[in-house]
Amino acid sequence: MRIVPWTQIQSWNCVRCGLCCRHYDIVLKLPEWLTIVKSFGPEFTSPNMTKFLLRRRQDGSCAFLHGASNTSVCRLQHMKPMACKLWPFKVLDRPKYGEAESSIYNYRGHGLFVYVDKNCTGLRLGTPTPEFSHSVIPEFVEIALGIRQNQYKSTSLLGLRLRSF
Ligand code: SF4
Ligand code: SF4
Repeated sequence: MRIVPWTQIQSWNCVRCGLCCRHYDIVLKLPEWLTIVKSFGPEFTSPNMTKFLLRRRQDGSCAFLHGASNTSVCRLQHMKPMACKLWPFKVLDRPKYGEAESSIYNYRGHGLFVYVDKNCTGLRLGTPTPEFSHSVIPEFVEIALGIRQNQYKSTSLLGLRLRSF
């Protein structure tokens, strides 16, 4: 199984491989879709019968993915969809993927269930480090709960200068 409890992960650090931007459909919330359409035009999204998606190129990659010297960066950084901000973590209020005892995460007295998609290249398996438990996971929990808006780690622009659209 590729979805595992967070307690099986030692650490996570995005290596900007771009895998998550090449192999997954990105489902947009309605406000996200509206913002992207207003900023870039409808051609950057792909609505279907039931949901709004980011447009993918013929090779499967997201239309906002930019590759430079084997490093992938997101050009939608300032309005990155929630689905992208949360990858590879899943923060849930019930143990959807099982192993409830291993997946529970206590955030300020609130019991949540946190899982990780093992397909992410930036994961290291093992016993969680204090940094992972007390810094990385809370960031994703806060994003999921709407407490934190910004997330700069995944496919970040940090350290890179890109030409604008
Ligand atoms: S989040 Fe994971 S899969 Fe996505 S670019 Fe970073 S390391 Fe690669
Ligand atoms: S992180 Fe950016 S480039 Fe990657 S799928 Fe999301 S919007 Fe596209």
